Amino acid sequence: MVTRPIGVLALQGAYARHQAVLDRLGQASRRVRTPSDLEGLQGLIIPGGESTTLSRLLDANGLWQPLREFARHHGVMGTCAGLIMMAETVDDSRVTPLGLLPLAVVRNHYGRQVHSFRTRVDLALPEPRPFEAVFIRAPRISRHAPELEVLGRLGEDPILVRTGNHLGLSFHPELTTDPAVHRFWIDHCLAPARACA
Ligand code: GLN
Repeated sequence: MVTRPIGVLALQGAYARHQAVLDRLGQASRRVRTPSDLEGLQGLIIPGGESTTLSRLLDANGLWQPLREFARHHGVMGTCAGLIMMAETVDDSRVTPLGLLPLAVVRNHYGRQVHSFRTRVDLALPEPRPFEAVFIRAPRISRHAPELEVLGRLGEDPILVRTGNHLGLSFHPELTTDPAVHRFWIDHCLAPARACA
């Protein structure tokens, strides 16, 4: 765990569940709704929800630029709509992504076949281990830079990716009882001795 609190963007979506996981891990956290809420945090989680709404609310709350600045020096973990916000390119002009991960996403890709599903995947956390992943109208990573670390796939598609202290997931790790993804991000990506960004 890390000593400073972790922020959870709380404008919309699944933020309460992420806080519950952090509580379970004994990790202090704080809800982020304004730029000043970012002060003193060790990292930030951008939860799932609706990326078009999130994008609009980031703008309305004056958070878009402060988040970009924060992410230059701190780790960010984005899940589902959070991954969409961390992308460089999104197939929907209503979303202005933050460009924190060198990848392109297609919204609602998995949602076309089934609204929501749960499946066992193997994730490198950092050792390969099974994880029960929940997909809810999830985005697909359609392209990415070669240097992006892919830590998990569904078929051929990357579903868990990392660049330095930033982690992006197309699924919802906060909806299972297994805190392994949160723990991996905190211990291996955020903890000062291990951060490489
Ligand atoms: N479909 C949503 C979007 O495009 C993401 C869904 C989710 O976060 N569960 O923003």
